[in-house]
Amino acid sequence: MTHESDVIIVGAGIAGLSLAASLSRQGLQVVVLEAANSPNAPVNVDGGLSGWDRRVSALTPASSALLSAIDVWPDILNQRSASYDQMHVWDGDGTGEITFSANDVGARELGRIVENRVTVDALLKRVERDRHITLSWQDPIAAIKCPNEQAVEVVTESGKQYAAPLLVGADGVRSTVRKQLGFKVREWSYEQSAIVATIALEQTHSDTCYQVFLDSGPLALLPLAEPHVCSIVWSLDEAQLSAFESLSDADFVAALNRALNGQAPKVSAVGPRAVFPLNQCHAVDYVQPRVALIADAAHAIHPLAGQGINLGLADVAVLADEVGRAFCADLDWGELAVLNRYQRRRKSDNLAMMAMMEGFKRGFGSQHPALRVLRNMGLKWVDGTVPLKRWLAAQALS
Ligand SMILES: Cc1cc2nc3c(=O)[nH]c(=O)nc-3n(C[C@H](O)[C@H](O)[C@H](O)COP(=O)(O)OP(=O)(O)OC[C@H]3O[C@@H](n4cnc5c(N)ncnc54)[C@H](O)[C@@H]3O)c2cc1C
Repeated sequence: MTHESDVIIVGAGIAGLSLAASLSRQGLQVVVLEAANSPNAPVNVDGGLSGWDRRVSALTPASSALLSAIDVWPDILNQRSASYDQMHVWDGDGTGEITFSANDVGARELGRIVENRVTVDALLKRVERDRHITLSWQDPIAAIKCPNEQAVEVVTESGKQYAAPLLVGADGVRSTVRKQLGFKVREWSYEQSAIVATIALEQTHSDTCYQVFLDSGPLALLPLAEPHVCSIVWSLDEAQLSAFESLSDADFVAALNRALNGQAPKVSAVGPRAVFPLNQCHAVDYVQPRVALIADAAHAIHPLAGQGINLGLADVAVLADEVGRAFCADLDWGELAVLNRYQRRRKSDNLAMMAMMEGFKRGFGSQHPALRVLRNMGLKWVDGTVPLKRWLAAQALS
């Protein structure tokens, strides 16, 4: 028996679930296929540092607007999240620094830091009560077929068959949909991995995100809902990773304090650490007839500006808009013309962000003395130039 729907989404991550809810609001019937088991990790408020999800995201106001539109944001706010209204960025090797705030653009906050587990939990509650959405757990896709020009068919490892006019790959950076359908990609390893962990501070984080560019890679502190607790993302060149990974907790805390060099509150403790390899991967095309890729399946970038899922949610908003409009106009929503409009509206923004991240990474990773002087002068100049600071703050909000 083949299960028929309007759209099949592969991947129940933040992007896949947000798209399912956005499409169902417009009346489409959606099937979501997920390889993993249903997550079962409620927010733990008493677990010390290990009670926090080590994966957190800095969600911009544009992302929270999308999550509000699908009725998920209030639940996130009711659970656990932290507003941040200031960013302090400096060069670990020089004197350049820049601080900008929500005040610079007359906003109340620059965004919110949310544990990924909280976002997924709120999305799941929303999706599970939606009669337009069917969720299937622990059943990875095995094959994709296009039996005719009107539909795409997916077979899962358990042998179940699904058919729809549109298939969306929201299955992350190692996307099976992308690989099986032969989408070309431009990818390279940053030759860095990120150590993520939750840390305790001696003083309050003051609702500020801190980021230092070190020779070994950027280190970011993201404020969490407790004033003395932050999440860290420390991107390290592969050559240095094992030395940092094998440090005792006390030595890791000492290394963090040396890296922060008094420019951020002092770190007093660290929770369990996890390591993620970092790759840049961008699909040359996001669409084929009856197939679209979104979020990390289409583009994965360095986490140094915390923009990955924000770009992914922007894809969700645009694809839902194009598909929803075609559906309401009684047109074929899986047709290439509809999907091409999604690609056109998203690709240039995604490419611009990827180029900016690459420029940051190369500029700040360079040992060249002239580049060091330039970047220090640049940071100082931007810090002293009000319109530019306003522009930077506006970018953080978009
Ligand atoms: C260290 C680090 C820090 C980051 N910090 C930030 C940040 O501060 N802000 C930000 O915006 N972004 C950040 N990012 C990026 C962000 O985490 C990703 O962009 C985001 O998680 C991507 O979401 P997604 O839904 O596209 O993919 P994923 O979260 O990877 O979800 C994909 C889903 O697809 C499922 N799946 C995979 N294969 C199959 C299959 N064959 N069949 C069925 N299901 C399948 C997976 O199980 C998974 O549930 C960070 C990334 C890293 C590595």
